[in-house]
Amino acid sequence: MEIGLFCARVNVLILLLALCSPCKFIQSPMDYGPLSFLQSTSTASMDFGRIHFHSPSAVLRPQSSADISLLLTFLSSSSFNKVTVAARGAGHSIHGQAQALDGIVIEMDALPSNIQIHRKGEDETAVSYADVNGGELWIALLEESLKHGLAPRSWTDYLYLSIGGTLSIGGISGQTFKYGPQISNVLQMDVVTGKGELVTCSPTKSSELFYAVLGGLGQFGIITRARILLQDAPQKVKWVRAFYDDFHTFTKDQELLVSKPDLADYVEGFIILNEQSLYSSSTAFPAHLNFTPQFHSKGSSKVYYCIEFAVHDNSFEDINAEQVVEEISREMSYLPSQLYTVEVSYYDFLNRVRMEEMSLRSVGLWEVPHPWLNMFVPRSGIKEFMDLLLENISPHEFEGPVLIYPLLRDKWDTNTSIVLPDAAADNDKDPVIYIIGMLRSTNPARCPAECLEDRLRLNRRIARAASSSSIGAKQYIPHHRSPAEWKGHFSQHWDRFVARKMWFDPLSILAPGQGIFPRIS
Ligand code: FAD
Repeated sequence: MEIGLFCARVNVLILLLALCSPCKFIQSPMDYGPLSFLQSTSTASMDFGRIHFHSPSAVLRPQSSADISLLLTFLSSSSFNKVTVAARGAGHSIHGQAQALDGIVIEMDALPSNIQIHRKGEDETAVSYADVNGGELWIALLEESLKHGLAPRSWTDYLYLSIGGTLSIGGISGQTFKYGPQISNVLQMDVVTGKGELVTCSPTKSSELFYAVLGGLGQFGIITRARILLQDAPQKVKWVRAFYDDFHTFTKDQELLVSKPDLADYVEGFIILNEQSLYSSSTAFPAHLNFTPQFHSKGSSKVYYCIEFAVHDNSFEDINAEQVVEEISREMSYLPSQLYTVEVSYYDFLNRVRMEEMSLRSVGLWEVPHPWLNMFVPRSGIKEFMDLLLENISPHEFEGPVLIYPLLRDKWDTNTSIVLPDAAADNDKDPVIYIIGMLRSTNPARCPAECLEDRLRLNRRIARAASSSSIGAKQYIPHHRSPAEWKGHFSQHWDRFVARKMWFDPLSILAPGQGIFPRIS
């Protein structure tokens, strides 16, 4: 063993003794051989959810994959400690998934930025792709790839999330019906397993690790680098919104749109529960809306729906985006005159949620607790799910968007670790699954701690009822509180998930914040 490596190991040992002691005496910053640790930082014990605040004992700011490998090699080869490790990307989890109580948080944004773009045809490259570090944000990848006229194919709505963070959960948006989730658009990854091994994996090389890590909730390894598929980027986008007052018509039109992947490039939608949800969801959409919904009519309350779709305006393809929008909208059944089309740059379109963030920040409503719940619902259960939702929430006081849009089952690779509703439970073996995101904010001035607890309880109640056999839903970005619930979540995939854990992280060091496996000493 090299002397440097030996010294580093001894120093990591000293660190661990410090961690194992009830008195946390690490002062910041401290160098342990080549590894530089900080005392727990406030960001490492916080996330977007602002519900859990678990402090780690130390924070690692890695300079390379080798730093991460060194730490995990040491932790997995010493039997005396119970130290856990969480990779933290952008910390946009809701339930402390990137936290490590009394453990070590690895701040992935510390990895030096290094985005390499490869264009199809250059150096015998068969497809365009980007090599990018796991801690890099999607916005940085977008900005760099656009300089080459390229962009990733599959997105999330919000781009200030890390590559490793979204590949660990799936990564979905309005392009998912067409290209699959982000985890269906990765060619290769560098991963440090829970045993400290640094492995380059792909569908043909170390494929078990590759598929385990994708949608694997950080359980099997830390993604230090990923190869992301790119396509030619359009300059502009025709962005369309159409309004509905009938759920069946709304979903019928959404399904019409996802049946036209050659025409539509993006399909989403949301429920309009009240004035505020109409106003806040329109922050980035630069059209004057002449839409005046009657939320209370004839003594009862009513909700509305909005479909959002987009068509790329490509100069390199012989497509007239305006004509495509007309062609598609002729077949739709929105409320009379309630279709609005705007043209925006591709960058502004993809980065649209940033405007909502800025708007919410300006009124102090971004850094507040977020009791979010995301569910995949088979088409056969979507109406029952909607009834369940509307029975359980008060539309007039709900703050935040409720997204709902269809995805296609065949765009998801069943080898990955993510779990969709069981095809067997879906009576029609239907190709369509809906994602419903109840993205609730709680203003602490109106909803103090007990009220937040009530909302979390309500989410659990909805999730439990929706998982019943008649609806057959599964949580997306799941949060469960007991091993039995996790087992139920993975259902027939549980044994594979456990086997992968035993293989790649047998001491259960990684991602303790998910609460799936207890640390083994
Ligand atoms: P973190 O919160 O830092 O980590 C999440 C989990 O991944 C943790 O368990 C962590 O340990 C693990 N992890 C982090 N980095 C790595 C790595 N490099 N290797 C292995 N494991 C790692 N999701 C969608 O699919 N579509 C959306 O449109 C969407 N919009 C969102 C909008 C907002 C405003 C927010 C707050 C979230 C949104 N999400 C969306 C959810 C988001 O994709 C997930 O919460 C994602 O995990 C966040 O990425 P992150 O970098 O913040 O991860």
